[in-house]
This record gives sequence, C-alpha cells and structure tokens, in this order.
Amino acid sequence: MKAVSVIGAGTMGNGIAHVFALNGFPVRMADISPDALEKALLAIQGNLDRMIKKELIGEPEKARALANITTFTDLEQAVSGADLVIEAATEQEGLKKKIFSDLDRLAPEGCILATNTSSISITAIAAVTKRPDKVIGMHFMNPVPMMKLVEVIRGYSTSDAVAQVIMDLSRRIGKAPVEVNDYPGFVANRILMPMINEAVYALYEGVAGVLEIDTVMKLGMAHPMGPLQLADFIGLDVCLSILQVLHAGFGNPKYAPCPLLVNMVAAGKLGAKSGEGFYRYTAGSKELAVSTRFAK
Ligand code: NAD
Repeated sequence: MKAVSVIGAGTMGNGIAHVFALNGFPVRMADISPDALEKALLAIQGNLDRMIKKELIGEPEKARALANITTFTDLEQAVSGADLVIEAATEQEGLKKKIFSDLDRLAPEGCILATNTSSISITAIAAVTKRPDKVIGMHFMNPVPMMKLVEVIRGYSTSDAVAQVIMDLSRRIGKAPVEVNDYPGFVANRILMPMINEAVYALYEGVAGVLEIDTVMKLGMAHPMGPLQLADFIGLDVCLSILQVLHAGFGNPKYAPCPLLVNMVAAGKLGAKSGEGFYRYTAGSKELAVSTRFAK
C-alpha cells in the first residue's frame, strides 16, 4: 500500500489527507471545487502549525507532509496509480453511488475503494461497482488528526483480505481501528444518535433545561461535552438525517427523530455552523450561551 487518493477535500477529506501525508504517504486530494482545495490546503497548514505548537512535530515533518500532497479537480488524474481511494464527499447516497461507479471505471483494477460515510450502506455503495469485495467503510472521526478511532465497516461482500489490509493500514497511520458490520448507523452513530435524540426528547418534554441535561451527562457520565452541545457541533441536520437512516433501516419507532429536532432543522437552527442550535455561537467568542428559545 503506497499511493492514497482522497476524494472530497472538506472537513473530513482534508483531515484524512493530513494524517496520511504526515505518515509518509503520497496523497492525491481531489474536489470538484478548486476553492475547497485551496481552503483544504490552508486548513492542513494551520493544523500542522498547531501540532508544531504542541511540540508533536517539527518544521521538517510539516514540510514533508505538505510536499506529499497534490491536488486535483479531475477524478481520473486523482486516482491514477492509486492503491487506495478514500471518498469523503458530501453525504448524499446518489452522489456517492455516482462517484463509486466512476471510481470503479477509473481506478486501477486492484485498488481498494473506501468511503468515509457516516450512515450510508457500504453494501449499497459497493453494489454499483464490479469490485464489491474491494469496497469498505473507513469511518474517521472529526477532527481526524486528533481522534484515534477508525470504524472499519465491512460490507456484505467485503473480502477478509481487504478488511485486513485496512485494519493494518489504520494502525500504520497511528489510529485504532475497530471492525464492524454494515448495518444502519454502524456502531458509533447507532449508539450516539439515540442518546442525542433522547436528550432532545428530555428537553422537549420539559424534564430539564439545556444546561441541566448537558451538565448531568458531563459531570455524571464524564462525557467531555453534553449531548445537546455535541449535537450542535455535529450539525442538527446531520443528526436528523442519521436518525432517519436508523428509523428507515430498522423500521423501529424507537429511532423516530424527536419533533423538536425536526422543527429546529426546518427553522434553519442547525447548531454551531448556523450560529444557533441549543446554544448561540458568536464568531470569535468561546462563551456558550443557551439559545434564547430555551433560556429560562
Ligand atoms: P464537507 O461538506 O465539509 O465536504 C464535502 C466536500 O465534498 C466538499 O468540499 C465538496 O465540494 C466535495 N464534493 C462534493 N461532490 C464531490 C464530487 N463529486 N467529487 C469530489 N468532491 C466532491 O463534508 P464533511 O463533513 O467533510 O463530510 C464528508 C463525509 O464524511 C460525509 O460522508 C460525512 O457523512 C462523513 N463524516 C463527516 C463527519 C463530520 O463530523 N463532519 C464525521 C465522520 C464522517
């Protein structure tokens, strides 16, 4: 395993490129948007600088990592000679299926095709290719350079050999891989999202306020962040769409998204990225204020 291509240079794609490049892999990073590629390179530089400040790496490692990254807007060029492609484009099933059918046509025959999807079926994505045994989920956590876990998701047809290569590779880049099977939400989101949904229900039913719910989980369960604040950081639209995948995939009412979450997304209150969710976010301020809607 030598050459890695990353498709999609957003939050996750640039983090994945950062980690592989820092670990000595030549990385071809692609996006349909030249602007996204430019921003991704700036983000990687900034994140490497942060690692220098923390004395985790030095200037030479930063320079080597940046020299390992080349950028492309053309998919064919981006995957030429790749041993592994990791797709981290926008979370839309139709888009991912289109990308995988193109990758199947354009990437070298033996190349493994991985996706960083949070919730879309690996098996369904693999089914659009002629190499479903070489398609696998590689679910990195945000922020990628900091978080150790990689959820390695085996689709219905993923071969043992491919799963082993991805488990070994994840360890080589300093991550802790955990192998799971392909069912809705995999493991991470199957457990996390019902907890977040239950926290929203507790708020909706008036059991307690935003701060009280988050404080119970922070101080009582040693979570670094309460579930409502975490939902704001993930994005309430993202939480809603993952809950919808769980609800549709299992047909079990226990996964039904709380009506308050549905309403907040409809109102455009998406959390940190929109400036307001359960809390309000003002640029440049680290102060966390409960949204006026929920303040007592
Ligand atoms: P993002 O919106 O930050 O980035 C997506 C990028 O994909 C954009 O730059 C967009 O221009 C690009 N893109 C869209 N169509 C493309 C195409 N056809 N070819 C190439 N690039 C294309 O999204 P993100 O948060 O980085 O999420 C990417 C993937 O990672 C999603 O599947 C998401 O579910 C998953 N994920 C996200 C997180 C998270 O916390 N953000 C965590 C784990 C997994």
